[in-house]
Amino acid sequence: MKSKILKYSVIVIVLILIIFLVMIFTQNKTQETNLQDEKYHIVTSFYPNYILALNLIEGIENVQLTNMLDTNVGCIHDYTLTTTDLKKLENADVFIINGLGLEDHLINRVTKTYPSLKVIDASSNIIKEELIKEENSEEVNPHVWTSITLYQKQVEAVADFLKELNPENSGKYEENKEKYLAKLDELKKEYEETFENQTLKAVSLNESLEYFKQNLNLSLISIATDHEESTLSGEKMGEVIDKMKQEEIKVVIIDKEDNDKNAQTLIKETEAKIKRLNSGLEGKEDLDSYLDIMRENLEVLKNS
Ligand SMILES: [Zn+2]
Repeated sequence: MKSKILKYSVIVIVLILIIFLVMIFTQNKTQETNLQDEKYHIVTSFYPNYILALNLIEGIENVQLTNMLDTNVGCIHDYTLTTTDLKKLENADVFIINGLGLEDHLINRVTKTYPSLKVIDASSNIIKEELIKEENSEEVNPHVWTSITLYQKQVEAVADFLKELNPENSGKYEENKEKYLAKLDELKKEYEETFENQTLKAVSLNESLEYFKQNLNLSLISIATDHEESTLSGEKMGEVIDKMKQEEIKVVIIDKEDNDKNAQTLIKETEAKIKRLNSGLEGKEDLDSYLDIMRENLEVLKNS
């Protein structure tokens, strides 16, 4: 009888122990998922915004940053959204876009899928007078980040939105904003010092590089050619060549990834040189990627 009681007691104790262990285990699990969910999820639309946000969240533990597009697809301009891209926004608290129409073709699908998602327009501080109108159209060129000054305005706008939407980290966003703006000021100074009292005349064949002229004394004739994909007509080509001869333009600017067919035709007739710049649409996932790309561009132009 005694041994039977003992036997049952052992079984009961073991059972209680097992239940206890299971409870601890599952509790840990929920704590883990809660911690995961407590993170503030930021998603950016494409590479330039991703590097911008990467700088603003530096050192903040409870924020998670994802780029919707892969970092090597180039401009979001002519990009078709996939279900995998949309899925990345599933747990997002905020979606940062370039604005100025660059994401117009896909933003409806995003907001329809996630009606409560907050969308931040990085270009909301940029005023009309600072924008370049597209040739023969009322639309503006949205590729503003190649102007360091306009990029700084984007940094300020995004930081201010994040401070408001995620006040817990407001102090850190402000600190990171100031730090990044100072680095960009330094970069601007390097441009100013290099091109002091010099005017560079060039023809640009890529719309992403149109705002680049604001970084230096660059008198730029931009030819509208959607990221250099289209072939210029013979008539247009003749027009540009005449202008280049008249104004002694010796530089043709294209993106480093561009097909140089149009540029080659232009230099054959004018003795100009082709300069391949980086539009900053793709690259490494480094804090200083934008700065590195713009310094690389400065080196390319130095010898013009
Ligand atoms: Zn584009």
